[in-house]
Amino acid sequence: MNDPSEASREASSQHPKGVVMKFGGTSVEDAAAIRRLCKLVERSSPHRPVVVVSALAKVTDQLMNAGWAAAAGSLDSAREILQVLRRRHETVASGLAKGEERRRLSREFATEFKALDKMLLTIASEKALTPRSQDSLLGVGESLSSKLVQCALRSAGITATLVDARECIVTDAAHTRATPLWEETNERLQAVLLPLLESGRVPVMGGFVGATRDAIPTTLGRGGSDFSASIVGAGVHAQRIEIWTDVDGIMTADPNLCPDARRVPRMSFDEAADLAYFGAKVLHPATLVPAMRSNIPVWVLNSRNPGCAGTEIVAHCEGDGVKAVTAKRGVAIVDVEPVRWFAPELLREVFDVFERHQHSLDLLSASRGSLALLVSSVSALPAIADELKGMAHVRWENHKALVCLVGEQVRRRPELASQAFRAIGDIDVRMICQGASERNISFLVDESRAEEAVQRLHRSFFLHSEPAMEQDASQAMCQAEGAWQ
Ligand code: ADP
Ligand code: ASP
Ligand code: MG
Repeated sequence: MNDPSEASREASSQHPKGVVMKFGGTSVEDAAAIRRLCKLVERSSPHRPVVVVSALAKVTDQLMNAGWAAAAGSLDSAREILQVLRRRHETVASGLAKGEERRRLSREFATEFKALDKMLLTIASEKALTPRSQDSLLGVGESLSSKLVQCALRSAGITATLVDARECIVTDAAHTRATPLWEETNERLQAVLLPLLESGRVPVMGGFVGATRDAIPTTLGRGGSDFSASIVGAGVHAQRIEIWTDVDGIMTADPNLCPDARRVPRMSFDEAADLAYFGAKVLHPATLVPAMRSNIPVWVLNSRNPGCAGTEIVAHCEGDGVKAVTAKRGVAIVDVEPVRWFAPELLREVFDVFERHQHSLDLLSASRGSLALLVSSVSALPAIADELKGMAHVRWENHKALVCLVGEQVRRRPELASQAFRAIGDIDVRMICQGASERNISFLVDESRAEEAVQRLHRSFFLHSEPAMEQDASQAMCQAEGAWQ
């Protein structure tokens, strides 16, 4: 079989700790996709799989639309969305199960949709979609898909057991972007999953969701099922974590932007984490954290092309060139200019104010005259500017993007920055940003030029070799308006 991961599968069968298999929205989008999932799980059954699933493709967006419609007073259109969703889930169910299993699913869907309707009524009466009600609403997508998948696995002869992720993944109360409380989560995961694995059952759980200690549903942020898989993997000390998606692995760029992107066979945890952080949707930005901590290899694989070897993400990986190009959109640059001078107390105050507004900072650069910050949301900036009034002038510009080259030690190779400049120098590069890590160089450009910048960089670094550099990197960097350290 064309699957170099076979060796590590062999190893995992000798140490039956389990393999976490996470299937994203497109890998469960319809009955055919779920049947492919069943085959993959069956193939892995000697390795004790734990299955983590996303909602069916687009369902989370539709639930979100229903919530917004209800909040805006259009309860009828919100309910129409629910009807469409219900029909879709019933159709998929009919393609997967028969007889009593099929009827059982219908009963469960009836309960779920009744609960959804009640949620919409509450949202409509409150005239607002609060973060807390959003989490309860969106989490139902994963609940529905996990029920479908468990039923499909059972119909395929696999003894699958449904596990409610909200009973295992304990989080803080930061709704819409919750963080797990690790100790409690690990204890619960082990208590629930290990006995199932030992008895040869396949646990099936929804990704993306968790709950607070008081059992209030939370979510881990959009795209969070990847993170769930890694949390589960670390919790049960899995042998490996598999992220099954709709592309052949991590590619040298988003294949939607660069159709000639190539598969990256191997990456380090750090490289993949940087890539995810800087906008590559293929992995949720927090995915690598638990895996890295527990040193569990992560594989990104294509559920439509399972023969392809995918991308293996491990602790260390040889090679120091550019591995991939990505772009993080929706970035704003904030300029903080002190009214008098830059006293250390002002710096402290700036950080405190951002923290009080729960506003994370992406990058910063300080000079004697001012402080420049990059942030991914401008929503709290007016309030922040107001709080700092009298101490500093705060100005911002949004609709920027960070276009980023990722690869071990790219910063140690100045010729790479120069090559990048040659490729995109005529696009107004506002800044070169070199974060604390040596693994990335990013360029702040207008969001409207991000796509073109990624394509040009990709062409330059992956599709043909560049002639020797005429200009060194320090010169090139001086052309940018500012250099970040
Ligand atoms: P899933 O539903 O399986 O979680 P996502 O849509 O969240 O899938 O992530 C997969 C998508 O990520 C791909 O279809 C691709 O368009 C996008 N993507 C962005 N950057 C990359 C990259 N560097 N490599 C692979 N895919 C990428
Ligand atoms: N269904 C959730 C989302 O669309 C989580 C995920 O797919 O990872 O954001
Ligand atoms: Mg995803």
